Amino acid sequence: MARYTDSVCRQCRREGTKLFLKGDRCFSANCSVSKRSTPPGQHGLARRRKASEYGIQLREKQKCRRAYGVLESQFRKYYEMASNMHGVTGENMLRLLERRLDNVVYRLGIGKSRPMSRQIVNHGHILVDGKKVDIASYLVKPGQVISVKDTSRDSEYFKALRENGVAGEAQKWLEFDVENLTGKVVNLPERDDIDLTIEDHLIVEFYSR
Ligand code: SF4
Repeated sequence: MARYTDSVCRQCRREGTKLFLKGDRCFSANCSVSKRSTPPGQHGLARRRKASEYGIQLREKQKCRRAYGVLESQFRKYYEMASNMHGVTGENMLRLLERRLDNVVYRLGIGKSRPMSRQIVNHGHILVDGKKVDIASYLVKPGQVISVKDTSRDSEYFKALRENGVAGEAQKWLEFDVENLTGKVVNLPERDDIDLTIEDHLIVEFYSR
């Protein structure tokens, strides 16, 4: 499977905002965006031209895609799925992205970042309704129970998680029992539940061109 292998901090600098891809480091003084707000590369300091309408839409699409760690072809599929659903396409798209299993593992606080949560899923540590699911793009549904596999619970990472509690903010649409490392999808997220500062209408305009 293709994946992005360059420094994830470069992605934040390219988008000019924190995408929170590195866990604890994102909240520290070592965050690359906090230290340098210029885009990466030798032309990063060059004077920026005023962005075109297309450029603004492209950047918003890239920011969202990179925040969720999704490749272009898959991201476009989310757009196509969202445009075939009832309701506002941009909101539908964000709700689909939020329902990805790697994102839910992140939102529950099991993983410290989306990339780390994806790794936790890919390595087979997560059960959905008691069955192992190692597909990061799996879309959860209301009522499903997400838990850490019994044989993984004694690892240093999960022991520390139980002792220290989760790092992330509680989500209205999810419940999490950190003692038992078990969470539940209570509802589908509403747009207001999604704290990313993404102008989803720009993404829809980008793909509607
Ligand atoms: Fe982005 Fe986190 Fe790196 Fe800061 S530390 S640039 S928020 S990935």
